[in-house]
Amino acid sequence: MNAIHEPAPYYRAVGDEELVFAKAHGLGLPIMLKGPTGCGKSRFVEKMAHTLGRPLITVACHDDTSATDLLGRYLVQGGDTVWQEGPVARAVANGAILYLDEIAEARDDVIVVLHPLSDHRRTLYVDRRNETIRAAEGFTLVASFNPGYQRGFKELKPSTRQRFVTMAFDYPAPDVETEVIVRESGVDLSTAKRLVALGRKVRKLETAGLRETVSTRLLVQTARLIGAGLPPRTACDVGIVEAITDDASVREALSDLASLAF
Ligand code: ADP
Repeated sequence: MNAIHEPAPYYRAVGDEELVFAKAHGLGLPIMLKGPTGCGKSRFVEKMAHTLGRPLITVACHDDTSATDLLGRYLVQGGDTVWQEGPVARAVANGAILYLDEIAEARDDVIVVLHPLSDHRRTLYVDRRNETIRAAEGFTLVASFNPGYQRGFKELKPSTRQRFVTMAFDYPAPDVETEVIVRESGVDLSTAKRLVALGRKVRKLETAGLRETVSTRLLVQTARLIGAGLPPRTACDVGIVEAITDDASVREALSDLASLAF
C-alpha cells in the first residue's frame, strides 16, 4: 500500500504517539497536535504518513488563510474559466493525510468548512461548485496549534477542539533531545549535550519578553552550524540568541548562558 519508496523520515517516538495516531487514523477520527513550535509535530506527521502509506498534504495556516484558499477557486486563464482545486479538496478526494499547521491562525470561515469534515459526516462542501465531496478512505484531518502562542487572542473554540483526538507534544526529555540533535546534525555527543543543557536553561528563564523559547528545531540548526565549522559561540548567537530575542537585556542574559555552555 505504501506507494512512497523514500526512506522513512527520522522521527524519535517519545511515547505511544504512533499507536494513538494509527488507531485514530483507522477510525477516521481527526487528530490535533498541540505543543510549542519546533518540538517535532510536523516530523511526526511526516513519519506517520509514510508508515500508513498515505500522501501528505500540508498547509501552513496564517491569518490570511481563508476557506477559498483551502477549497479552491475559479481562475481566468486565457479567456477561459478554470477550476483550481484547493489543498483540502485534493486531500479529501485522494484519501490523503491533511496537515493544517497552526490552525488557530486561520480565518474563522476555515473552521466552519472543517466542521462537517471532522465529524461522522466526513464531507466537504465546496460552495463555489455547489458540490459535496465525501472523504476517500484513508483521509485524515490533522491539525496543530500552539497553546502558548498569542495567549488568549486566537484560541480555538471548544466546539472545534472537542472534535479532535488531541495529543500533547513538548520539547523532548534531555536524553531524547540529545539523540535527535546528534542524528539530525551529526555533531558529537558532547556538543549535543551542551546544546541541550543550554536549551534547558534558556527554557527555564522567566523572561516576559520571550514569546517563543528555544525549540528543538533551533538547537538542531545551531548544531548544524557547529557541524559545518562555525565556532560554537557564534553558532549559539546566530542560531539561538538572536533568533529568539530582539531585547538588549534578554540578549545579554542569553549570551551569558551560551558563554557558560561553550
Ligand atoms: P513543529 O512541527 O513542532 O514546529 P518540527 O517537526 O518541524 O516541529 O521539528 C523541528 C525539528 O526538530 C525537526 O526538523 C527535527 O530536526 C527535530 N525534531 C524534534 N523532535 C524530533 C523527534 N522526536 N524526532 C526527530 N526529529 C525531531
